[in-house]
Amino acid sequence: PLDASWAESWIRLSAQSVAEHREELTALDTAIGDGDHGSNLDRGMCAAVAALDDADELPTPGAVLKLTATTLISTVGGAAGPLIGTAFLRAAREADAPVLDAPGTARMVAAASEGVHARGHAETGDKTMADAWAAAARAAQAAVTRVGQSEDAPAVVLEAAALAAAEGARATEPMKARRGRASYLGERSCGYRDPGAVSTALILEAAAQTAR
Ligand code: ADP
Ligand code: MG
Ligand code: MG
Repeated sequence: PLDASWAESWIRLSAQSVAEHREELTALDTAIGDGDHGSNLDRGMCAAVAALDDADELPTPGAVLKLTATTLISTVGGAAGPLIGTAFLRAAREADAPVLDAPGTARMVAAASEGVHARGHAETGDKTMADAWAAAARAAQAAVTRVGQSEDAPAVVLEAAALAAAEGARATEPMKARRGRASYLGERSCGYRDPGAVSTALILEAAAQTAR
């Protein structure tokens, strides 16, 4: 079930995955930014895990995601910190039940996506993390109508979101960046995946993996 314990596992696996892909994220951000996305996010996710270690038992997925959000906002910095922090903060608000059902899971992903959009004003196609979040939100919503009420429905929704986020991240490769530091490069930003979209795909893959 997608309860508080699942949410903790999600954040812990996300931290592990970001740590494992730290150099890849840094390489992407070196190509089209300032080379700090891997270390920024790794620092933030490590701090989120430490905050979870220190916290008393949290009652809902929302409580876990809120603690994660506030920790990320205060430790990641740069452009991505407030963006990913807002994503988790909005997701937390939609996850305040003890257990998430499939529609609630899709609403959580949609809220995260809307949070990124509200903060950064990026549209789909601007070559940012919004490309991965928006694709995930769309796919999650579409999955809800397909899966119905089965016991594994929330996991199937996250699976769809994760696949779409990975697809969304891949799709940023040929794009010309229109937001964030990469936009300063104009045409020279083409040919690399956006680091924030790639890290978003890692985080959503961790969500799906822990829900299986
Ligand atoms: P900084 O650019 O400040 O060094 P990071 O390297 O940690 O911060 O994060 C860069 C990522 O932030 C980009 O790959 C992109 O996905 C995301 N980003 C930057 N600006 C925006 C924006 N306006 N909207 C959405 N995402 C953005
Ligand atoms: Mg950077
Ligand atoms: Mg920076």
